[in-house]
Amino acid sequence: MRIAVVTVGDELLSGDTVNTNATWLCDRLDERGVSVERVTTVPDRIADIARVVNEYRAEYDAVIVTGGVGPTHDDVTMDGVAAAFGREVVPNEDAEAWIADHGDYSASDLTEGTTHLPAGARMLSNPEGVAPGAVVDGVYVLPGVPDEMKAMFETVIEEFEGDPTHVEEVRTSEPESALIDRIAAVREEFEVTIGSYPGEDVRLKVIAADAETAAAAAAWLRERVD
Ligand code: ATP
Ligand code: MG
Repeated sequence: MRIAVVTVGDELLSGDTVNTNATWLCDRLDERGVSVERVTTVPDRIADIARVVNEYRAEYDAVIVTGGVGPTHDDVTMDGVAAAFGREVVPNEDAEAWIADHGDYSASDLTEGTTHLPAGARMLSNPEGVAPGAVVDGVYVLPGVPDEMKAMFETVIEEFEGDPTHVEEVRTSEPESALIDRIAAVREEFEVTIGSYPGEDVRLKVIAADAETAAAAAAWLRERVD
């Protein structure tokens, strides 16, 4: 499964908020073998959201959008996703029922708009908050608040499946430029992908479809690097 992640928020683009939602989603999806092929951040602007969602839903098996889904003026994520489908944002009966069942208030007590979702959307309940999320034709709309986003994502995680990969790590104090020959050789010898991450040491990430291949390639490398 190939997917794209879209994070919405002016505060992400101005550097006020670190985009932990994107990193967390990539990590959870990668664990499941789902291939995240795009992470894009857009401002709180309906047309910008609609444009990337439209592009990505044509290209990928699913799109996960996180960002303001509350009722305040800058929470335009639902409107942006609705616009991508040429649909209206309308009161959602499931969202009204869920809020009536799970809160100390009814939909009419809430700020107008909280229970409004794109027409025809499947409602996603919010285990950590009030504003519901939505799924429209493979586009998942989750809140921006990290705890709410995570809890809601866990309710749909089974819908994201891929081929889990097996990873081994090899560390070396040799400079990255000196390792080129052995990285090429291990890739010839085994069915693996190698990631190379310089830092204080160089971290070589050995990725394979099965655990045996990953372990054998990592052992091969460990014998040949300092
Ligand atoms: P609320 O209803 O409380 O407004 P919301 O679902 O509308 O929540 P936002 O308004 O986008 O979400 O953001 C709420 C909080 O979550 C803000 O503090 C924001 O900085 C933070 N947040 C939003 N997006 C991200 C992200 N991608 N990574 C980390 N934090 C984020
Ligand atoms: Mg908000």
